[in-house]
Amino acid sequence: MDVRNDSRHGAARGPATVLAVAAPLPCDVEVSFEFFPPRTEDSERTLWASIQRLAPIRPAYVSVTYGAGGSTRERTHATVMRMLRETDLTPAAHLTCVGHSRGEIEAIAASYWEGGVRHIVALRGDAPEMGSAWEAHPDGYAHASELVVALKKVADFEISVAAYPEKHPEASSLDADIDFLKHKIDAGATRAITQYFFDVDVYLRFVERARARGVGVPIVPGILPVTNFNTVVQFSKMNGVSVPAWLADLFDGLDEEPATRKLIAASVAAEQCRALHANGVEQFHFYTLNRADLAYAICHVLGVRAPQTYKTQRGET
Ligand code: FAD
Repeated sequence: MDVRNDSRHGAARGPATVLAVAAPLPCDVEVSFEFFPPRTEDSERTLWASIQRLAPIRPAYVSVTYGAGGSTRERTHATVMRMLRETDLTPAAHLTCVGHSRGEIEAIAASYWEGGVRHIVALRGDAPEMGSAWEAHPDGYAHASELVVALKKVADFEISVAAYPEKHPEASSLDADIDFLKHKIDAGATRAITQYFFDVDVYLRFVERARARGVGVPIVPGILPVTNFNTVVQFSKMNGVSVPAWLADLFDGLDEEPATRKLIAASVAAEQCRALHANGVEQFHFYTLNRADLAYAICHVLGVRAPQTYKTQRGET
């Protein structure tokens, strides 16, 4: 039924709106997933079940975070090495400067390279005590750009770095922060992955500004599907990320309804990604929180599917 001229369906209120998800299915999207190293046997099982679910859609790489203050050094290493041993995935190990001397950084990096890891997400990290000021190790690195230089001296790693569409909380201005991002690229990083954000325009304006200041590498949007809205509000306060009123409205009244929150999380993130795609974005990095279902659904909406599913849908054999 064509409802456009049927006032019973509310169409008489204004022109039809084109949904981003109604555009032709993308066929050019590349995705990557972030996981964190598990603490317990239970969380280890959840992580590996998620990896198995997401592996068939062939992410470009999967990254494993480095806990605050280097607290997951062994677990990050163990998770990355297991990915190499047991899957066809390309792992990327996060590494921070926190609490490490230059020698330790060199040793960690060399052991990754010897183990076959070729991609590092190089970060400064934060002070181990939440809220206290950042202080570099007396014989360590003060900024991620210095870490990038050091890693490149150990071996020819592929290096990704962090970017902040709403500026890093400690930066004096967005332009100053972008200039420091450029230092990381000039030092040898070939990709920036952004902090999560909710308004598509915030990201698009940031990319425009970064391009104007000479950042030429891919700036991959970090996508966080929100299931626990209250936690995200707290986390966003600490990280200088704006939580728009429309997002608060969508989750309002759902504190006791996790299943509904999940449905909303998937639809918000899918719409965000398709709107980004409509604006030329072809690479997406998902903060999975070690869960596969939302990332899997959003990837499906982005046309990123296991090869067999894709063939079946197109009627190929
Ligand atoms: P930097 O690029 O060094 O920047 C930090 C601050 O210093 C910024 O304000 C910048 O403007 C300023 N600055 C940079 N260079 C200079 C300079 N030469 N002189 C003066 N000021 C300078 N944290 C973890 O602990 N583990 C993780 O696994 C992890 N993964 C992350 C992944 C992504 C994609 C993102 C976006 C963040 C991640 N973080 C992680 C958080 C990150 O460690 C913090 O945001 C940290 O505060 C900054 O790290 P950075 O690498 O951006 O630092």
